[in-house]
Amino acid sequence: MEIRYLVSKADGRHVRLICSYLVFLLKSIFSVRTSVNRMMDFYSPDFPKWDNISDLSSFFHWDQLTNSTAADYFKSQGISDKYIFEVVQAATRVNYYQNADEVHALAGAVAMATSDARRIAGGSYQIFEQFLKHSGANIYLNTKVSELQFHLVFTYWSKSPKRFKQVKDITPSSSSSWTLKSTRGATEYRAVILAAPFHSTHITVPRSIYNQIPEQPYQQIHVTLLSTTSPHPNSAYFGFSEGVNMPRVLLTTKNSAAQPEFNSLSYHGLIREGEWAVKIISDQKISNEWLDNMFNGQVKWLLRKQVSISFSLLAFAGVRTI
Ligand SMILES: Cc1cc2nc3c(=O)[nH]c(=O)nc-3n(C[C@H](O)[C@H](O)[C@H](O)COP(=O)(O)OP(=O)(O)OC[C@H]3O[C@@H](n4cnc5c(N)ncnc54)[C@H](O)[C@@H]3O)c2cc1C
Repeated sequence: MEIRYLVSKADGRHVRLICSYLVFLLKSIFSVRTSVNRMMDFYSPDFPKWDNISDLSSFFHWDQLTNSTAADYFKSQGISDKYIFEVVQAATRVNYYQNADEVHALAGAVAMATSDARRIAGGSYQIFEQFLKHSGANIYLNTKVSELQFHLVFTYWSKSPKRFKQVKDITPSSSSSWTLKSTRGATEYRAVILAAPFHSTHITVPRSIYNQIPEQPYQQIHVTLLSTTSPHPNSAYFGFSEGVNMPRVLLTTKNSAAQPEFNSLSYHGLIREGEWAVKIISDQKISNEWLDNMFNGQVKWLLRKQVSISFSLLAFAGVRTI
């Protein structure tokens, strides 16, 4: 939110509004810091291992956060509705594309903890590209996996012959293996990590494994990337007179009466002198006419993407063990 703009236009009512926001800002910073500070432990080499996401959540003492909405949690911390639905919600909508009463409180806390956020010049994908490069692993791009089969080899570890038949005495042996079928053919592996949203991969797995993977609710969002020579969005769209320089980062919130046409609109810096890169996130596809109006007829280059996201709709399902 561009508080600078509000301050330059402030009358008595605006000053009272900003002061009350600052009080809640400090309260929310305290509440968020205590919630997410421990997250840094995650990156220490001696962080304990966990078997499921519930254990991880309990380790961080996040149970309350993952079992209530951001709105309810911040209310319980003494934050006003106005601050929640005008400031916290702007942050949850830009980070998780969801409103504060839909997203869980952990996401709400993370969305509010971005004051020290960094970005990687050239894109975060470079981190993972370098992980792969340094691992020395074989990398097969453009290789669609269609099926996984598990070949279980049992080891009987009990010394007592009477206990041989008990299932708990039987463990998969290290010679158990997976057959992975892909566009490259069938290959045997000792272990497989499936790092993709399972239900949209269309990979066939044994029924016993399929049954353990819950359906994730998905939401469609529209990402519009463009370049423009308009230095600011069109002030008339926001009800301001011509010549008012609108902020270059605009976040929206929502009340029951009005549904905003976008979640966020951000100028991401200059591509070249006098031409800016812009990203818009919205629930619906943004039309050419709308863009023409918003950027004063000065859109130069345009790319639209429709993306399925699931992280926000994890909201309020709580943390589930699979
Ligand atoms: C619009 C948007 C903005 C975001 N902004 C940020 C941000 O600013 N910062 C941030 O940290 N995170 C951001 N995220 C989240 C981040 O992109 C994801 O958390 C991250 O990409 C997840 O990485 P992943 O490797 O787990 O899964 P994915 O990136 O989803 O990778 C899964 C891979 O599996 C492949 N695959 C699927 N099916 C098959 C198959 N059958 N065979 C073979 N391969 C298959 C897919 O092609 C894909 O390459 C954003 C997400 C979105 C949608």
